[in-house]
Amino acid sequence: MNGTATVDCKRSGKTHTFKEFLASKGLRITPQRLAIFEAATRKREQFTAEELLKEAVMIDDSVSRATLYRTLPLLLEYGVLRELDVGKDYKFYLPNQDSDIFQTQVICSDCEKIFEVEAPFLEWYGKTVSEKLGMEVETQRLQITSSCLKRGNEKVCERRCS
Ligand SMILES: [Zn+2]
Repeated sequence: MNGTATVDCKRSGKTHTFKEFLASKGLRITPQRLAIFEAATRKREQFTAEELLKEAVMIDDSVSRATLYRTLPLLLEYGVLRELDVGKDYKFYLPNQDSDIFQTQVICSDCEKIFEVEAPFLEWYGKTVSEKLGMEVETQRLQITSSCLKRGNEKVCERRCS
């Protein structure tokens, strides 16, 4: 299995730490879990669980759908991904970026592409309305669904391609 060897040879700090994370939870470090982790960390844009499955299988063809769905919550807990529910019957996953600036998501209703836009005023808004109640913000979410203005006659969203 070539894919497994690739993962094992890759001594990146991230992979090592994920192994420690698995061990700390009393979970076995399997080539399948590492392949899923590897596939997820290669992603730069949004993806679905099924898309991740395809890429994980290319790294290690013994990755099953069941393993993928059991591993996804671990990746979320470990913090490399975020889950995004946009009201569809499937969820999107986004790589977690290290950004100090508050971001909000704008979802194109034509192509489902998710844009992350810096919106520091929203962080201020959350804090301000919470403070009025003497409370502190724990989480804050805002999703905006927009139509892509650049959509052509063929109903193909141009932003998707860029
Ligand atoms: Zn679009």
